[in-house]
Amino acid sequence: MVANRLGGDFTGAVLGPGDPEYDAARRVWNGTVDRRPALIARCHRPGDVAAALRHAVAEGLPVSVRGGGHNVAGTAVADGALLIDLAPMRGVSVDAAAGLVTAEGGCLLGDLDAATTPYGLACPAGVVSHTGLGGLALGGGYGWLARKWGLTCDHLVAAEVVLADGSVVEATAHSHPELLWALRGGGGNFGVVTRFTLRLRPVGPVYFRRAVYPVALAAPVLAAYQDFAEVQDADLHAVGTLRRAVANDWVPAELHGRPALHLSTAWFGDPAHGRAATEALHGAVAPAGSAEQVLSYGALQALGDTSEPHGHRYYTKSCYLEGIAAAADELAAATEEIPGAQGETSVPLSTVDFEYLRGAIAADGADSAFPNRDAPYICTASAHWTDPAGDAPHAAWSRRTIGRLAPWRHDGVYVNYQEDSGNSRAMDSYGDARYRQLAEVKRKYDPHNLFRGNQNIRPSA
Ligand code: FAD
Repeated sequence: MVANRLGGDFTGAVLGPGDPEYDAARRVWNGTVDRRPALIARCHRPGDVAAALRHAVAEGLPVSVRGGGHNVAGTAVADGALLIDLAPMRGVSVDAAAGLVTAEGGCLLGDLDAATTPYGLACPAGVVSHTGLGGLALGGGYGWLARKWGLTCDHLVAAEVVLADGSVVEATAHSHPELLWALRGGGGNFGVVTRFTLRLRPVGPVYFRRAVYPVALAAPVLAAYQDFAEVQDADLHAVGTLRRAVANDWVPAELHGRPALHLSTAWFGDPAHGRAATEALHGAVAPAGSAEQVLSYGALQALGDTSEPHGHRYYTKSCYLEGIAAAADELAAATEEIPGAQGETSVPLSTVDFEYLRGAIAADGADSAFPNRDAPYICTASAHWTDPAGDAPHAAWSRRTIGRLAPWRHDGVYVNYQEDSGNSRAMDSYGDARYRQLAEVKRKYDPHNLFRGNQNIRPSA
């Protein structure tokens, strides 16, 4: 550990190459990312972040910011950069009466849920508890409750932000409103958010239903999904996954390790009505296996926690779609082509995930930078493997899968599922007009583009 190498009033640990903890600290969720920062500054408070940023500027070091370390492109870490590590900043405080939660910049979604669910409250967010709140909320935040209540970024009421010059500002609807607008979807381009204040929503027990089908039934099942999803109640959210079926007790043995289509439906109304509310989808085509349960919101959020562990190798490519039913044959073919031997159930599993969006996501959204709100469907080919020898075929499969869907593409790409960083990725995500608006805000808050190791918005000239 480099004792107070950042000078000033920095109070955290600073790690450099050669320090025993350096190798663990530079790792992120995606095991294909193997970058070596010059320094890792473990920050405990906004003053630490400010001191680290001033040091980076003085030394001419690039900067990267790590929230939960989940970004598939590995934007939290860069070769030769100063890594602002927010992992020590995971405090959460709930004001149930006001319906607000404040969460420090390094929180994971599970930190938030653990603090809010005892009050019967939740902030709509992503579906895996070990995802970072920082990157997810700043880029948007799809999840089970998004159709009912909107994205995570729509729930951002205020943010404490350390700007590139080390000053600390509070962005609210009244103070730096253009910064708050940009933080709602514009990613980590404008500063380091050390505290998020988020609106909470009521949640009770959730009725959750799953079904699995052989992939040969993709066409009728996806037709039923599209018919159902586009008129479904706001209290419902249904998602689909194509993959080799996992060996669960509710999945028939003959499907284990075989290409299959899974549907999962969560009903946030009275659990007693969950079965009836989901029957039009789950009863449309007889599944090979099914299961239903009532569980707490926190338990729902943790269901996916073990399927994508840290350190495995991942490559994700994503797109928006106009419809899903017409793409059934291409999706089935992509599932058949997942690299690796079929029938294996012990190996990591690549997936093609899709969901119908709209609902509250498609609100006018004028108070946020989040783009593409009108996109009907999102589809993501997540390649997942462990052997470095598989890097090329798995990434190629993911790209090929999204390429197959070209005839049904809707404009834009979700910034948080971009497989790479850089300026062109930001342009793909935001489109011309929205990008220009963001570039104006960038010019005001980060004119020298210190925060650029991301899907980068360049300051306008
Ligand atoms: P990091 O890699 O730590 O950070 C990514 C970037 O965000 C950084 O480079 C920085 O620019 C910025 N950043 C992070 N924290 C801060 C901060 N406090 N201040 C300023 N900038 C910051 N997305 C969804 O919308 N819904 C989902 O359900 C969902 N599920 C996922 C499940 C898994 C297993 C994974 C790996 C990802 C999932 N995602 C989901 C995508 C997720 O939103 C992005 O990966 C996001 O970048 C993760 O944020 P993070 O803080 O963990 O990332």
